[in-house]
Amino acid sequence: MAIDMMKKVPVREQEPKVRATNFDEVCLGYNKEEAMDEATRCLNCKNPQCVVGCPVSINIPGFIDEVKKGDFKKASEIIAESSALPAVCGRVCPQESQCEGKCVRGIKGEAVSIGKLERFVADWARENGVKPEVKAEKKGKKVAVIGSGPSGLTCAGDLAKLGYDVTIFEALHKAGGVLVYGIPEFRLPKDKVVQPEIENVEALGVKIETDVVIGKSTTIDALLEEEGFDAVYVGSGAGLPKFMGIPGEQALGVYSANEFLTRNNLMKAYRDDYDTPIARGKKVVVVGGGNVAMDAARTALRLGAEVHIVYRRSEAELPARAEEVHHAKEEGIIFDLLQNPTEILEDENGWVKGIKVIKMELGEPDASGRRRPVEIEGSEYEIECDTVIMSLGTSPNPLISSTTKGLEINKRQCIVADEDTGATSKSGVYAGGDAVTGAATVILAMGAGKAAAKGIDEFLSKVQ
Ligand SMILES: Cc1cc2nc3c(=O)[nH]c(=O)nc-3n(C[C@H](O)[C@H](O)[C@H](O)COP(=O)(O)OP(=O)(O)OC[C@H]3O[C@@H](n4cnc5c(N)ncnc54)[C@H](O)[C@@H]3O)c2cc1C
Repeated sequence: MAIDMMKKVPVREQEPKVRATNFDEVCLGYNKEEAMDEATRCLNCKNPQCVVGCPVSINIPGFIDEVKKGDFKKASEIIAESSALPAVCGRVCPQESQCEGKCVRGIKGEAVSIGKLERFVADWARENGVKPEVKAEKKGKKVAVIGSGPSGLTCAGDLAKLGYDVTIFEALHKAGGVLVYGIPEFRLPKDKVVQPEIENVEALGVKIETDVVIGKSTTIDALLEEEGFDAVYVGSGAGLPKFMGIPGEQALGVYSANEFLTRNNLMKAYRDDYDTPIARGKKVVVVGGGNVAMDAARTALRLGAEVHIVYRRSEAELPARAEEVHHAKEEGIIFDLLQNPTEILEDENGWVKGIKVIKMELGEPDASGRRRPVEIEGSEYEIECDTVIMSLGTSPNPLISSTTKGLEINKRQCIVADEDTGATSKSGVYAGGDAVTGAATVILAMGAGKAAAKGIDEFLSKVQ
């Protein structure tokens, strides 16, 4: 079939009605022929802007050229030079605002489907047993990495490739950070995709110790002063949920999105063979309009509920990716826009029975540049529901900063670290990812992990 050079080769997806009732992956990805067809759309620009748009600077035209030729192994090796988590990134990166957002093809038509090509190559490599190799000589120095999310994994992998002895300490019983506890299975399969990429990092020699909470089990100061580590990287994320502070928020059946998603993703509440408790609401209200809200809403839908998203601005201001909103709508999520909760209503047993909301209109732009929502007086009304999921953002947990001497944080509880090297106010301690920026993206967290690995290497090269 002739290829339309202006348009992406369409990617196959599960039908909305079918997928709304299961937790299988929504997007089915490209097959070989589709990937090779899509690769022919790449112009192999001399000055590739897509690489500039990628926070870990993957040689995008280079790997796409190999896909064009059908050498998928070579393509995977090129990606592996820059990214330890390509199958993850191919699925969850906001490509439209990064690599694809800069693609020259996008000026007159649709950008090359870089994310779907990355995903294809990474899946092919995994299915064909391609493993990363380490050739570095051992340096005889130990680095501790706190947190096994994308930032910690990337920093650990890069340091292992440089010859350091790296141990990741992870508070939860499973490695992966948000990739395993936050992002749902239907967007990012855990056993099939996340676990093998973590195993690839382990194959570089990285050790992962789970169930170790830094700040409780031990501290950064003890790691450096008593446990023989020469440097520490803090990639502990931003897992502390925010609430609105409205009456009724303590009622039974009110969840933070993080808890709701953790019960489902990490603790498999959706599966009959697990006994993790979760309220399977008949009518669920999710408060918020970001990607996390979309994930919580689509998860609640798959557990059998009618789901409403209550968001205080209009559709144009929804912070979630357009693709996520589109998928949520296709699956039947109801968007109650320009509305804001004022109270959660409880029944006589303390369970949620509804939520009071007030209608809003948009005023002048605020500091974020988005038009400020203003309450419409006297417009309050009640939505009946049995579960409320608060998805209002997260911040870093203060446990690490409060147990480490001399570690500077800002007023948002984020660790202060140098953007280029990850260096913090404490010598030998580096930080990056959501712990530094607040909730952001997988690829930015990975970029910070890479930069810090270089920073740590430079620091340790000077220490005898
Ligand atoms: C539901 C959800 C959906 C998202 N969807 C997307 C998406 O589609 N695309 C995208 O790019 N981004 C998405 N994000 C954001 C993205 O996942 C994060 O920006 C990214 O995971 C941050 O990586 P990190 O390594 O800094 O932190 P995390 O992934 O949060 O990992 C931090 C790890 O540190 C551990 N930890 C914390 N404190 C301690 C301690 N004291 N001791 C030991 N270990 C500790 C945590 O248990 C965790 O495993 C999403 C986030 C959520 C919550």
